[in-house]
Amino acid sequence: MHSLMLLAPGEIADHLTAHGRVRMKKFGSGGWEFVRAAAYARQPAGDGALRAALSTLRPAAYLYAGAWLAALAEHAPARADYRQPDMAPESVRLLARMTRTHANGVPRVTDGSVGWSVEGASARVWPDGRVEVRGDGGVVLAVRLEGSGWDSGRVAAVADAGLRLLCGPGARHMTRTSEPSGWDRPLSRWGGDAVLAAGRDRKGGQVYDGVSVARCSCGWVVSAVSRLGARAAAAGHVRAVGG
Ligand SMILES: [Zn+2]
Repeated sequence: MHSLMLLAPGEIADHLTAHGRVRMKKFGSGGWEFVRAAAYARQPAGDGALRAALSTLRPAAYLYAGAWLAALAEHAPARADYRQPDMAPESVRLLARMTRTHANGVPRVTDGSVGWSVEGASARVWPDGRVEVRGDGGVVLAVRLEGSGWDSGRVAAVADAGLRLLCGPGARHMTRTSEPSGWDRPLSRWGGDAVLAAGRDRKGGQVYDGVSVARCSCGWVVSAVSRLGARAAAAGHVRAVGG
């Protein structure tokens, strides 16, 4: 979206993304200019207001503005309101795909924010709905998410989108596989003599559920009948994308 450079101070421009309209306004000039961009919900708040996100972008981020604002429009909640996002930064961190590990020990600072990093970029989420993604090269994608429709999953999707844009090549395809449920599910759960699905085995009235899900930070996901199978699928995906 290089046209952001060409906006005059105070000028407003609308841009149609694949997921809805965004509106941009240029402030300042010269070395201190920036653009404020709003993304919208589809259904208005009681007074007709539609805004769901307000992003602030300095010139270094203009190159990423098109994809970033499209992600905000894509994940914006259906309805606008003036309440704070209904999410917790810890939950956002756990739902994010652009992360090397989902282990406990989430880093937190005194303002309640949670941050994490991948190769080349880092994200921080505040309880009031602010999200900031920083690339090691100095680009910052900052946004304030507005409205209670922003649940942890939607906020995680926004953080993921920013990290995907600014991360280094090593973070584009980070895969994980889920732990199979194992033997702890009683047979009755599957309906007595039910035919056992692939990946499940029977022993002493219990079912072994070996199903494992392989996920990649790029959004790729597949289920396999065993964790070994999931790991093989993940390795195949990384090879396929040239990682
Ligand atoms: Zn991938």
